[in-house]
Amino acid sequence: MTILEAIRAGAERLEAAGVPNADYDAREMLAHVLGEDALMMRMQGMRSLPVAQAAAYEAMLARREQREPMQYILGEAAFMGLGFHVEPGVLCPRPDTEILCEEALRHIRPGMRVLDIGTGSGALAVSIKKHAPESDVTAVDISDTAIAIAADNAQRNGAAVRFLKSDCFSALEGESFDVIVSNPPYISAEEMCSLMPEVCMEPELALFGGEDGLDFYRRISREAAGHLKKGGVLLFEIGWKQKDAVSALLEEHIGAPHALRDYGKNWRVVYAVKEKD
Ligand code: GLN
Repeated sequence: MTILEAIRAGAERLEAAGVPNADYDAREMLAHVLGEDALMMRMQGMRSLPVAQAAAYEAMLARREQREPMQYILGEAAFMGLGFHVEPGVLCPRPDTEILCEEALRHIRPGMRVLDIGTGSGALAVSIKKHAPESDVTAVDISDTAIAIAADNAQRNGAAVRFLKSDCFSALEGESFDVIVSNPPYISAEEMCSLMPEVCMEPELALFGGEDGLDFYRRISREAAGHLKKGGVLLFEIGWKQKDAVSALLEEHIGAPHALRDYGKNWRVVYAVKEKD
């Protein structure tokens, strides 16, 4: 079988399984198996596919047919120009979360203490440390699996981040920060029933935000007030319908809220500066 034939056959199978970008995914998986750039591989599509690689490609196709996310299958995801290892147990980094990272970076100055709550793969914390190397970054998560994966990602990227197992602020008594970021679980009970098949394979712990999806915003906003320095900032990623509710929480506990949209023009980030001590 040639590379071109393998891509076509793979894409057809994925298409039949309802995979949205079947041809693209088939090419990415085959390129990954061959250790090549997808475009270069396609330009030499008449080459025949070695048996060992054909078997590895087959195994990946079978996983994708089950609608497993590409990032889990490839074992890697790109975020803020960096590479992250991901596997089931942590949420796959999303491009929209880069808006939160970029906004956080606008507020960070050398020497500032930064906290990432619910770090998951470590994408936010590691990216912040890489893009603001003179900041002092702490990342917490309630999941041991997440802490292990995030610490590995910090090492891969050469980022010195402090990781702690913590249920929000539970392990951070007496500590205060200049910038707190969080992409907490924010899917509501109703939305949990209509997720894409790929998202259903991600950990519920990283997705489900209680009945109305707002549990973690309530808790983090309230508790953050005691862990933010004066002039410090709390920044959240939000679901596209949550801007008003989360802004009201920030207004109540932190300060005047601001909101930003994502690449799809949906509200995606809200933040507030703590004006009072
Ligand atoms: N952005 C994710 C989704 O739409 C949700 C991530 C989260 O709950 N923090 O599937």
